[in-house]
Amino acid sequence: MDGDYSRPRCKRCLLSEIDRDGTYRTVLEYISSLDDSIRCDKDEYSARLAICRACEHLTDGMCALCGCFVEVRAAKQAQNCPDIPHRWE
Ligand code: SF4
Repeated sequence: MDGDYSRPRCKRCLLSEIDRDGTYRTVLEYISSLDDSIRCDKDEYSARLAICRACEHLTDGMCALCGCFVEVRAAKQAQNCPDIPHRWE
């Protein structure tokens, strides 16, 4: 992120939707580098992100509770939601 907070913050937007400085490409590269044994499958990943998009804690692509880009957190099979541990299951 570029630290430009002169623009309004985007509630319930994923980084992929608001990519302001190319950070999403770095995130995608990181997710692609994850070993298949720890990466979520595509359907589960989409389901997790749909839950995040409906969540009040999602701001500018980040979870306000844990500070993660949710696209990164959701990509890892062993991760869970910091608000409600079984929310993504
Ligand atoms: S990880 Fe959980 S608390 Fe954070 S934005 Fe997603 S659903 Fe909300």
